[in-house]
Amino acid sequence: SIGMAKSKFEYVRNFETDDTCLKNCYIVVRLDGRNFHKFSEQHNFLKPNDDRALGLMTRSARSVMEDLDDIVVSYGQSDEFSFVFKRTSNWFKRRASKLMTHVASQFSSSYVFYWKEYFGDQPLLYPPGFDGRVVLYPSNRNLRDYLSWRQADCHVNNLYNTVFWTLVQKGRLTTAQAEDRLKGTLAADKNEIMFSEFDLNYNNEPLAHRKGTALIWEKMEETVTKRVKLPNEEEKEVPVTRTRRRVSACHSDIIGDQFWEEHPDILEA
Ligand code: ATP
Ligand code: ATP
Ligand code: MG
Ligand code: MG
Ligand code: MG
Ligand code: MG
Repeated sequence: SIGMAKSKFEYVRNFETDDTCLKNCYIVVRLDGRNFHKFSEQHNFLKPNDDRALGLMTRSARSVMEDLDDIVVSYGQSDEFSFVFKRTSNWFKRRASKLMTHVASQFSSSYVFYWKEYFGDQPLLYPPGFDGRVVLYPSNRNLRDYLSWRQADCHVNNLYNTVFWTLVQKGRLTTAQAEDRLKGTLAADKNEIMFSEFDLNYNNEPLAHRKGTALIWEKMEETVTKRVKLPNEEEKEVPVTRTRRRVSACHSDIIGDQFWEEHPDILEA
């Protein structure tokens, strides 16, 4: 048969390089939408924040967490999502390319699969893509700083985008004029423009826009009744309690300590 003996071609397998992720480190896979500036325009995303698009990103990330192993927390904003594998994960022998490509392809296919649930009659015009990268973080502090960095990025971008689109949509400035107006402004200046000229308090903007979305595993007790039939006995119903877990979304601050104190099981000792 052809299956048993090694073919003379098989040596090429040795050209594969080892990309095993260092032990004991958190493995982070971050995805980012390819050319979403254009994608968002062509699909009429509302500016600065289209909730359909954010919902679809979150739905796709949920599918990644449910369908792949060992992801303990994920965090997303704009067109990006970061997935954190537990330190002790041995999924695919910690091979970086396997982990990253499984995350990227599960996410991308989910984005297309669930498109209609979020965008309804707005057609998907072409297949979107996402790039991926793998980064290892050896300590809880490093991992928290990584997630803090992404949330701080969310804040800075969202503050800018919110005042920018307010100037365009309510202030009737062109995009070039709005850009000019914001050159060199600090956070306080941006808040002041919104407050004094548009009566808009940035702190009242939706949490989902200001903080992004974290997905965590939530444990819950579930009691179901099971019908049991023992030999020579009547069939009866017995309650069976089991702990199930499900992915839950929140828009909390993840930079401070509170979130981590409330969810001590995300990070390992
Ligand atoms: P690259 O391929 O290098 O990532 P990009 O065009 O995707 O290029 P990003 O820096 O990733 O650039 O920025 C993503 C852009 O997608 C944002 O600047 C914004 O214009 C748009 N975008 C993403 N999500 C949303 C959303 N929910 N609502 C409105 N616009 C969005
Ligand atoms: P893994 O996740 O490890 O790749 P797998 O089930 O995908 O597991 P593969 O070794 O990749 O295993 O084999 C793919 C299998 O998919 C084949 O063995 C075959 O059963 C099935 N398959 C793939 N393409 C076709 C096809 N065109 N027609 C029929 N079966 C197919
Ligand atoms: Mg980019
Ligand atoms: Mg992008
Ligand atoms: Mg991006
Ligand atoms: Mg296969």
